[in-house]
Amino acid sequence: MVKDLGGIQGILWDLDNTLYAANQRIYDSFNLAVARAALECGLDMPLDQAQRMAWESYERHRYSGLIFVEEYNIPFADLHKAIDPFLDHTMVERCGITESLFAQTACDHVLITHSGRPWTLNVLSRIGLRPWFPDDRIFAFENYDFESKARSRRPFDMALGVINRNPQDVLMVEDTVENLRVPHEMGMTTVFLHHGSKPRDLPDYVDHQCDNARVLLETIYSSASG
Ligand SMILES: [Mg+2]
Repeated sequence: MVKDLGGIQGILWDLDNTLYAANQRIYDSFNLAVARAALECGLDMPLDQAQRMAWESYERHRYSGLIFVEEYNIPFADLHKAIDPFLDHTMVERCGITESLFAQTACDHVLITHSGRPWTLNVLSRIGLRPWFPDDRIFAFENYDFESKARSRRPFDMALGVINRNPQDVLMVEDTVENLRVPHEMGMTTVFLHHGSKPRDLPDYVDHQCDNARVLLETIYSSASG
C-alpha cells in the first residue's frame, strides 16, 4: 500500500527534467555535447553522425554516451569528464515557485543524477535550489562509479545513508520510468513526473505519477499540513 505523502521524511531527486523541465533545445544540446566529447576522446567520425548516435543511445539506454563506451571502447570516466565543457547551463530556466516550495517542505533532500557534478552544481544554483542540497547530498554519476540507477542499488544506498532514513519514509522522484524499479524494490515510494504527457500504462513499480516537481511539492505540503 502506498503511504500518505504527508509522512515523507526524505526525497531523493533526479535532476534533469525532474527539478526543471528539459525542452528539445536542451536535449539537442546534451547530445551534441556528448558527440563532441566522444570526438575529443578519439572517436573518428563526422560530428553529425556522432550526434545521431548519441540520440540513438539516449533512446535505447537513456544515456547518450553509452553507445560510445560499449561499441567504441571509450573509457566511461574519460567521456563523462569531457562532456561538461560543451554544456551550457544558461539554457535551464529557473522556477521560482518550486524554489519557495522547497523552503516550506520540511524533509531531507538528496540528488542522484547520471549527469556530471559540474553541470549539477551549476544547474542547482541556476534554479535556486543549491541551498537544499549540501555537497554531501549530491550524487553525480562519477560519485557512484557510473552504476546506472536503472540497475544498481548503490546510488540509492548512498543517498539513504547520508540522510540516515529508512526507505519506507522516502520518495524517489524521476522522469525516467526505468530508474524507479530499484528504489521500489528497496521499499521506497516512487513518483514519475510526466510533464503533461501522461503515459497510458506504467509499470507496477511506479506508485504515483504527477505533472511536475512543483505539483508534487504542493501535494506533499498540503498532505503534511492538512
Ligand atoms: Mg531525468
